[in-house]
Amino acid sequence: MQLKIYNTLTKIKEDFVPVDSNHVRMYTCGPTVYNYAHIGNARPAVVSDLLVRVLRFLYPKVTYVSNITDIDDKIIKASDETGVEIGVITAKYEKIYNEDMQSLNVLKPDKQPHATEHIDDMIALIKKNIINNKAYESEGHVLFDVSSYPSYGKLSKRDADDQIAGSRVAVASYKKNPGDFILWKPSSENQPGWDSPWGFGRPGWHLECSAMSENCLGIPFDIHGGGMDLVFPHHENEIAQSCGSCNEGHNPQAYVKYWIHNALLNMDGEKMSKSLGNILYIRDLLKEYPGEVLRLALLSAHYRQPLNLTKDVLAQSQATLNRFYRNLNKNESIDSCSDFLEYLPNGFLESICDDLNTSKALASLNEISKKLSSSSSSEDKKKFKTQLLACGYILGILQEEPRQWLGISNGSDSADSKTVEQLVLNRDTARKNKDFEKADQIRNVLLDMGIEIEDSPTGTVWRKIKK
Ligand SMILES: [Zn+2]
Repeated sequence: MQLKIYNTLTKIKEDFVPVDSNHVRMYTCGPTVYNYAHIGNARPAVVSDLLVRVLRFLYPKVTYVSNITDIDDKIIKASDETGVEIGVITAKYEKIYNEDMQSLNVLKPDKQPHATEHIDDMIALIKKNIINNKAYESEGHVLFDVSSYPSYGKLSKRDADDQIAGSRVAVASYKKNPGDFILWKPSSENQPGWDSPWGFGRPGWHLECSAMSENCLGIPFDIHGGGMDLVFPHHENEIAQSCGSCNEGHNPQAYVKYWIHNALLNMDGEKMSKSLGNILYIRDLLKEYPGEVLRLALLSAHYRQPLNLTKDVLAQSQATLNRFYRNLNKNESIDSCSDFLEYLPNGFLESICDDLNTSKALASLNEISKKLSSSSSSEDKKKFKTQLLACGYILGILQEEPRQWLGISNGSDSADSKTVEQLVLNRDTARKNKDFEKADQIRNVLLDMGIEIEDSPTGTVWRKIKK
């Protein structure tokens, strides 16, 4: 199966051809750890995780790297404001970020390098850029000279003039061109910093991803991911300084072959922002929804389309997963095949290999679930159940025990389920008799017991509300 991905660099959907088909290498920009991650931060992680799962199915070896930014002006500011040491802040929020990602079934990257562990690599990268006449030192800063790299702007389709015309801020005295960006900047005594040939200071943010991706993967590598908001200036600058260091002409693909960017996420039609007070932290959402519901909601729109996250989208994802889990539970006694990925159906694979067309892939999942429901032979059931689990694995859903998901109790509190089932029956009878008041009363009693019910064409189903 040929994987196709839309390459931001060429602006076309291309056949993916790895640099080395025995070893695919991918990097995605990770979080700056000074606060809880919000649901928008999860989109690049979930999209990258999906792509990595597809790559692992198609190729014998995949190395996936995603960094932790643990030195940054925002972190310094958070430390200044709270009086808490930088290392304490970053360790805390890195742990929380990784726990949140685990709840969303995002597999841990093969390597998760920390910026502060790669300062030597960054200094070496700056030196190479200076030797190659791509960077210059000025007033304790080192800057990349954008005029020295003619392909600057190719990724974001901007030219240098655009930038100057659009820039109304005063140009710093140490810059030769307004578009030049910082590779190294001085730190005051009470700011974090490292000794360098240019004095005590710290790296500019863009530099770290160039240094860590090259250190962990070698260049050129295959795929670089991130949110669309990073195309300019972050990724544009990564290309310039990485190509500047290896001095292999002007070809941006001397650094990375394919750039993949996800669109941003809105909340109820509005951009999430501090000023609007509508930032939804993953941590808070997980109190209301299981991680798989959030993950499916994030995958419900194509990754290059903006995603408008609403309560309806979340409810729909919950209902879809409930349906699949109920079906799996009904077929609990059917064994699935252990080498389940061998059974991935072509229709699903075609959709997912077509630039991660998740909506189409989910439609195949629905079809398979229907076939599992309607087939009568146990052989067919085994096949469709295996297919459902295999597709679920690639999408990173259906990873829980159906009984657990559905809140079906075993043994110890079976008396409890008998009570619930009796109440559900009483409510069905009340509804049949059009005694809706009584039906509502029973629904409320069940809610108080922590049970929610859903009326489906095949009858009423109930599940424990996840706390
Ligand atoms: Zn980055």
